[in-house]
Amino acid sequence: MLLEGKSLLVTGVLMDSSIAFHIARLAQEEGANVVLTSFGRTTKITTAIARRLPTPPPVVELDVSSDEDLAALPDRLREHVDHLDGVVHSIGFAPQGAFSFMDATWDDVATAVHISAYSLQSLTKAALPLMGEGGSVVGLTFDAQYAWPVYDWMGVAKAAFEATNRYLARDMGPKGIRCNLVSAGPIRTTAAKSIPGFEQFEEAWGTRAPLGWDVRDPEPAARAAVALLSEWFPATTGEIVHVDGGFHAIGT
Ligand code: NAD
Repeated sequence: MLLEGKSLLVTGVLMDSSIAFHIARLAQEEGANVVLTSFGRTTKITTAIARRLPTPPPVVELDVSSDEDLAALPDRLREHVDHLDGVVHSIGFAPQGAFSFMDATWDDVATAVHISAYSLQSLTKAALPLMGEGGSVVGLTFDAQYAWPVYDWMGVAKAAFEATNRYLARDMGPKGIRCNLVSAGPIRTTAAKSIPGFEQFEEAWGTRAPLGWDVRDPEPAARAAVALLSEWFPATTGEIVHVDGGFHAIGT
């Protein structure tokens, strides 16, 4: 099994449509011991959804915008695991105002960047006390090389997220910790449904992705995340693996 004996922290399980739910499911099927995070009112939902996993994992409180939660994370985790081999960042949020490029306020943009980009650094830093020499950090992005319809300041936040991954790879490399992203095509999740006009992505992928693309199937992205968490990418860091049916490679 790919993740036999590994302990993983998986953020971002909200519903069973969440990409993180499928990462947690496949990771458990591949032998991993998984701890989830959730926060505030969503903790109840995450705990209920977690019962649908092969082994219902513990859920610890973590709002990545809370310094108290970040500081408390190692102690909260030690109640369930004595170390971590991997961390999954599957977190994204932007206020509705951020999806209107010319009207967004700095508050809208600051929230998007704080929760969707900076949090890759703060989550990794918070988890470090449980990571020994070696490990893997994996995040989820939506290709930030282009200006998309409606994605607007979330697209800018994703560009910052992708740059954060490269700097994190630079600073974590000497500890043997690899940092990589999966760049997924559009998937119908709660976060996606909060983006006005998301169906425009679905239509574009339907006609342009050479392998085709199913917006209801988070498993391809989850499989790539599990592979990056495993020992099968031992010399890869600062990388972005596209799991988008090949959309990114095709001009028109
Ligand atoms: P989702 O709504 O299921 O997951 C988003 C998660 O972010 C939720 O679990 C939510 O609780 C969490 N979150 C939001 N604010 C948080 C905070 N302050 N602290 C901690 N957690 C917080 O949607 P998803 O599509 O599975 O999103 C997961 C990741 O995948 C995101 O980074 C998203 O941008 C990325 N992604 C999604 C798509 C897509 O089309 N769905 C495509 C590419 C990348």
